[in-house]
Amino acid sequence: MTNNKITKDTSCMDDFDKNSITTDQAIEQIFNTISPIAENEIIPIRESINRILGENIESKINVPSARNSAMDGYAINKKDIPKEKTKTLKIIGKSLAGSPFTKPIHNGECVRIMTGAVMPVEVDTVVIQENVSISDTNTEIIIDNNTKPEANVRQAGEDILAGDIVLKKGKNLTPADIGLLASLGLSQIPVTRKLKVAFFSTGNELRSIGENLAVGEIYDSNRYTLYAMLSRLNVEIIDLGVIQDDVELLKQAFYKATEQADLLITSGGVSVGEADYVKDILIDQGNMNFWKVAIKPGRPLTYGKLGDTLFFGLPGNPVSVMVTFYQFVQPAIKKLSGDSSDLPMAIKIPSATRLKKKPGRVEFQRGIIKKDNDNNVVVEKTGPQGSGILRSMSDANCFIILPLDSETIEPGDLVEVQLFNGVI
Ligand code: AMP
Ligand code: MG
Repeated sequence: MTNNKITKDTSCMDDFDKNSITTDQAIEQIFNTISPIAENEIIPIRESINRILGENIESKINVPSARNSAMDGYAINKKDIPKEKTKTLKIIGKSLAGSPFTKPIHNGECVRIMTGAVMPVEVDTVVIQENVSISDTNTEIIIDNNTKPEANVRQAGEDILAGDIVLKKGKNLTPADIGLLASLGLSQIPVTRKLKVAFFSTGNELRSIGENLAVGEIYDSNRYTLYAMLSRLNVEIIDLGVIQDDVELLKQAFYKATEQADLLITSGGVSVGEADYVKDILIDQGNMNFWKVAIKPGRPLTYGKLGDTLFFGLPGNPVSVMVTFYQFVQPAIKKLSGDSSDLPMAIKIPSATRLKKKPGRVEFQRGIIKKDNDNNVVVEKTGPQGSGILRSMSDANCFIILPLDSETIEPGDLVEVQLFNGVI
């Protein structure tokens, strides 16, 4: 067989759909239609993990507030460091963290000092205790000419200066940020209010956990993956259950969601099947921005607005739900809540396996980043890649992103992988 390049007009050989927009166009349309909610609330610092900072935080104090020792040892004046050989200094007292030494210190004198203790004004250097010899009576130390002037001292304001902007509005607060806020003495933190996100599943074949399955029925798993991903994004969750493929019931559920939520997510019923009503209801009751994106899995993705409520109609297949949530709903939630943190990072590494691909759609295959026998980092796909095979997501730790026009990837070829962050 000749190695003919597949072109866009060999439609049976590709995945092109002229009605689909690209992932970049979809993201652009989503971002263009979202303004961040501008409502703040003040909450206790311990509850602020993963919340979005609503204002810049300016420090009112220096951190540390005073010059202090970084080590356990002896505080001396650098003028006492001998040019040659050694010098004996008299120990005249101690400075402990929380109990500073307050008497004057003269030439030839030093004080015992502990980590975090305030440095008296007359001294500027800490010699660590391992580098001195102590007299038998414990009243003198001997230092030598290797003693480094000004060593082991933390300057006041070295970490933060009064007036510094320590954290910017839009920061998604991490444990380190919470420590930083505590070091400024702040107990109440301004954050944006939590987004209210409603969701429901559609489909007559869906049964809830605890019910028995008749032939052709399946358990509704999408509501559980959505619930779990939304929990990790720290939003207020409104679960509207399973709605049958019935236009009136669907309209009622849409209405109920728009009454209470900033964002509505549904799964199923957005394709071109006979029971796929979601898109038509969106067009009828709101505005539809797009309904097909050139991705696999997840092409029939519907996006629009119902009044002030943003709407994502995700496809029904469980993997499609997770892919489209990660790629489109997650950025939308971040923008809407004013979260300025980066979207999940993509890096290029070699593929350990052959990856079948037709041009026409960006593919999000499920992969495992691991080390091969030679200790090189590679990515391997996780078994069968069907859009209904949720196991491919559960086994994975990344998406392997194959571009729109690319064709089959051979082992050793570089591929782009996007790490799962704390959402999947
Ligand atoms: P649909 O887009 O409604 O045609 O659904 C596509 C496929 O996804 C069908 O095989 C559905 O049975 C399945 N599906 C739809 N919703 C769910 C759900 N909530 N949980 C698991 N599978 C689903
Ligand atoms: Mg359906």
